[in-house]
Amino acid sequence: MSVELPASSPSPALLQTPPDDDLVIKHENEPYDLLGVGFGPTHIALAVAFAEERPGKRALFIDARETFAWHPALLLPASRMQISFLKDLATFRNPQSSFSFVSYLHSFGVDRLASFSNLGSWTPSRTEWASYLAWAAKRLESNVWWSSKVVSVQPTTDAGDSLVEITVRDFARQTTRVVYARNLSLAPGATPFIPKLFGDVLPAFPEIAHTSAYLSTLERLKLNAATFSGRVAVVGGGQSSAEVFHDLISRFPNAKVDMFYRASALVPADDSPFVNARAFDPARTEEFFGLQTQERSARLAEFRRANYACVAPELIESMYKLLYLQRLHPGEPQHRIVPNTEVLSVERGEDGVGVRLTIGSTLSTGGAPTTGEYAAVFLGTGYHRPSSSLSFLAGLASEYPALGAFLSGAAPALEVGRDYALEGSSERGGRVFVLGFSETTHGLSETLLSVGAVRAGEVVAALQLPAAAAVAEVSTPVASKTERGRSAHVHVGTLTPDSERSPERD
Ligand SMILES: Cc1cc2nc3c(=O)[nH]c(=O)nc-3n(C[C@H](O)[C@H](O)[C@H](O)COP(=O)(O)OP(=O)(O)OC[C@H]3O[C@@H](n4cnc5c(N)ncnc54)[C@H](O)[C@@H]3O)c2cc1C
Repeated sequence: MSVELPASSPSPALLQTPPDDDLVIKHENEPYDLLGVGFGPTHIALAVAFAEERPGKRALFIDARETFAWHPALLLPASRMQISFLKDLATFRNPQSSFSFVSYLHSFGVDRLASFSNLGSWTPSRTEWASYLAWAAKRLESNVWWSSKVVSVQPTTDAGDSLVEITVRDFARQTTRVVYARNLSLAPGATPFIPKLFGDVLPAFPEIAHTSAYLSTLERLKLNAATFSGRVAVVGGGQSSAEVFHDLISRFPNAKVDMFYRASALVPADDSPFVNARAFDPARTEEFFGLQTQERSARLAEFRRANYACVAPELIESMYKLLYLQRLHPGEPQHRIVPNTEVLSVERGEDGVGVRLTIGSTLSTGGAPTTGEYAAVFLGTGYHRPSSSLSFLAGLASEYPALGAFLSGAAPALEVGRDYALEGSSERGGRVFVLGFSETTHGLSETLLSVGAVRAGEVVAALQLPAAAAVAEVSTPVASKTERGRSAHVHVGTLTPDSERSPERD
C-alpha cells in the first residue's frame, strides 16, 4: 500500500504540462557546436540561451535520468522556492524570452497568471517550480538524450577543428554511442553527502535514507499515514531536515519525530535585501571573481548563513510554535528538536527490527549518550561536489592542468576562468565549461539558481564557434567510430548565419 498524500498535495492539473511546439536546436550527423552533460536547471537555462542567441547552431544535452524531474523526493506540500520567480531560466538575461516563469503561467491562460499574482508572493511553491522546469525541458526535448550517461571524453581534431569525442552509455537502448562536439559544458549537479558512519551501514539498513530520497523512501517503507505511531529520526539542522521534520509531523499525526543536530539552535536563512544584493545579484559574480583568495573566503564565510545550515524563517517559526504547544499537554513531548547532539553509532534495533541510534552530546556538559529505536532515519546531511562526479573527464586531464589537479586530488577545488571555461595547456579551438563547481571563485550563487540565466548567457557568449558558412564539409575525426551513420565526409546543409556575434571567442 502506498503512502497517502495529504489533501494539500499538488493537483494533477497543476502538474500538467501545457501543449507547446518543440523549440528545435538543429542537430544532424556532424559535430555539435555545444554538448551539455546534465539537463537540470543549469543546462536548461543554457539550452534556452543557446536557442535564443545562436539560432541555426547545433546543441545536444545528455542526461542519465529517464526524464526530467527536479528534486522529486522533496516536492513537499509546504516547500517553497528560496528565490524570486524573476530569477527563472531566462528573465534576467532576456526579459522577452518565452521561457520565463510568467510565460509558463500564461501558457495555461491569463487566468492562471492573474491567480498567481493574487497570491502576492515572489516565491512559488517548489512543486510549481518543478512543473515550470519540466515544461521548459519538454519544449527542448528534441535536443536531449535521456537515459544516457556520459562515460568518457577524449580530445580529438578534425581537419584543424578541435573537437571532443564523447562516449555515451544509452541505458534505454542498451548501446554505447559516440558523438563529437566543439564546445563541452558540464553541469552534473551535486551529490547527496552521507557521513561515513551511515555510509558504512547503509546497504544493510533500508530504513535509513538521505533526505534527497525522502518521499520515495516513505513509499518503499509503506508507512500508513493514519495508523503509523512509531518513531522517526531526522539528522541535521538545515533546510532539508527542517522540511522533512515538518512534513513527517503533518503526514503522520501519531508518529513521534526526533530531530538531532550539532549546532546550538536552528538559525534562519538570511534572505534580507542587502545580503541578497551582495551575495546573489548577477553583478556580484564579477566583483567576487576579482577579489583576492583571502577576501573571497572571508566573503563566503560572511554570507554562509544565506545558504548553508540554515532554515527558512517561516518554517522555524512554525516548528517553534509546535514545540511550545506540546508544553500545554502533560507527559513526554511527542516530538523533539535536540540541538548540540550527534549520532555516535547505528545498529539494528531489538529483535532485528528498526534502527537503534546512540546519540551523544557535542558539549562537555551534555551528559551520557542515550539510545533510541527508530522505524526510519532521514539524513539531512547536505550535498557536495566530489571530483568523482567529473571522473569521466579523465581523458582531458593532460590538456587542462586545473582539471588534472582536481581529479587527482592535488587541488581541493576546480579552477575555471571568469567565463567558466577551463584553461587549456595548449590553444585548443573548442572550449570546456564547468558550471556549479566554482563557488570559491564565483561566489555563493554558483551552486544555486540565482545567476543561472545570466551565467547561461555568459557561456553562450564565450563559446568557440566556427564561422557561419553556406555549406560545410566535415570529415570524421575517427573513422572507426561513427554516430548515426556518420561517414567519412558528410555534406551538411545550410547553416543559419550567426549574425549576432563574432564567430571568435567574445
Ligand atoms: C531540495 C532542494 C531545493 C533547492 N531549492 C533551491 C532554490 O529554491 N533556489 C536555489 O537557488 N537553489 C535551490 N537548490 C539548489 C540548486 O539550485 C539545485 O540543486 C539545482 O537543481 C541545481 O541544478 P543543476 O542543473 O546544476 O544540477 P541538477 O539539477 O542536479 O542536474 C544535474 C543533472 O546532471 C545529470 N548527470 C550527472 N552526471 C551525468 C553524466 N555523467 N551523464 C549524464 N548526465 C549526468 C544528472 O542526472 C542530473 O539530472 C535546491 C536544492 C535542493 C536539493
